[in-house]
Amino acid sequence: MNKVSVRCWEIENYRPGASAIDHILITYPEDNSGHELITCKSCGELYAVTVVKEVYIGPPLDEKVVNMKCINCGVFLDGNFAYYPDTYLAGGDLIIYQRDTLIPDDNESLIKEFYGIYE
Ligand SMILES: [Zn+2]
Repeated sequence: MNKVSVRCWEIENYRPGASAIDHILITYPEDNSGHELITCKSCGELYAVTVVKEVYIGPPLDEKVVNMKCINCGVFLDGNFAYYPDTYLAGGDLIIYQRDTLIPDDNESLIKEFYGIYE
């Protein structure tokens, strides 16, 4: 598994009752380009899914992760990942996040490196 550069935005999510604001990353892939992010539900490690490779090379993500182990914690990703940041791990809990449909400004975006499921 190799790393891949991903355009993303850092956003803050305030949860009532939480002691700190969550800083999460979000991507907005469109029209079979860009990257989705997924998270390991056990440790929160993030992985990039290169959409064009999933669509045109395949196999679909659910099949691709069969026999793949999380690089960080060693748990099998099959059945143990979630789309991020729609679901993310914070303080040991899986948080559900409702993403904003409004794409933030391009010039506020960051390029971060993640291990790519298809790389
Ligand atoms: Zn993990």
